[in-house]
Amino acid sequence: MGLTDADDPEAVMRRRRQFAEQVGFDLDRTLMTVQEHGANVVTFHRRRPEGGQCVFSTDALATDVPGQAIVTYHADCFPLLLADRDRGVVAAAHAGWRGALVGVATQTVQALHLAYGTPPDQLDVLIGPGICGRCYQVGAEVAERFPPRYGRQDRYLQTDGGGLRLDIAAVLRMQLEDEGVHPDRIQATAWCTREEDRWFSHRGGRPGRFLSVVVAP
Ligand SMILES: [Zn+2]
Repeated sequence: MGLTDADDPEAVMRRRRQFAEQVGFDLDRTLMTVQEHGANVVTFHRRRPEGGQCVFSTDALATDVPGQAIVTYHADCFPLLLADRDRGVVAAAHAGWRGALVGVATQTVQALHLAYGTPPDQLDVLIGPGICGRCYQVGAEVAERFPPRYGRQDRYLQTDGGGLRLDIAAVLRMQLEDEGVHPDRIQATAWCTREEDRWFSHRGGRPGRFLSVVVAP
């Protein structure tokens, strides 16, 4: 689903159209991130609807425009989908280690509160497929940046079995809980993109991107 390095961009667009038709959202007015592995959040509002655009330099988007879809692209990095059903607000974020380090989940929850008045404890969150904590070996230069910010390294760093391994989903969960999202309302698919052939995976040597979408009610 990703255009970056795609051999056949027209085939990518054809697939996106088929997918949008099947799921039932309007691809032409879909918001898409042009991801930077950061923690910028951009919000859209029904009082001044916009759409059908790529939003540059962002890793999270939110909207309360009815029927508006938000799309992000992934291959090992996690899709994070958030919904405030009472206010008709949805958000989507893209989170690899860099985004997790700078708090993309934290920033998204805070942005929803500021922009729409969403109380964190009324959010439902899905942490989608990504590279799991057993598979994601990182260097010390990556691993050592997390504990000074987040502490509790037993929750997301493993050192047994050779090398350091980082559990990005666990960092995201911690950030969500720290912001007041109810633990029972955070679901994780626990599907590992590296281990399971059906996903594209940077580390797993299956180049390409899959697409994640959330649609405002
Ligand atoms: Zn794995």
